[in-house]
Amino acid sequence: MQYHTLLHVISGYLYEHYNALATSSQIEKEHARLELSFSPEIMEEIPFDQLEQSIKKILAQPHNVYTKTISRAEAELKKAGVIKTVIHLLPASLNEIRIVQINDIDEQTCGGTHVNNTNEIKDFSIMKIQQKGPAKKRIKIQLLD
Ligand SMILES: [Zn+2]
Repeated sequence: MQYHTLLHVISGYLYEHYNALATSSQIEKEHARLELSFSPEIMEEIPFDQLEQSIKKILAQPHNVYTKTISRAEAELKKAGVIKTVIHLLPASLNEIRIVQINDIDEQTCGGTHVNNTNEIKDFSIMKIQQKGPAKKRIKIQLLD
């Protein structure tokens, strides 16, 4: 739950500031990773070396994690790009869509399990950030004890 919620915070931050879209994520026992795609033009300008500090700054304050259910029609009208992108992947038969919101940090469709507040997330570090093709990055993170 901590890893999963932390991935929301990181992808939400990178979406908000750099329009990055999360394309996949994987959570293991000792680490988690997130792949994001960027527009190639701005990729060079993104200060990835400061990402860990930026995320820790966000997590220095508590943020509530909410879930709500909205209709598919309502979801399709939403402006947030993350929701629009993901909605095409949802089965057409699905009429109720679950949205996870972390204050103004992230809002997206998700059926996963989350902590109730970001203050439940332990300290973490970014282990590495790898280039995956011209416009993709893979970010590997680790929660610290
Ligand atoms: Zn989630």
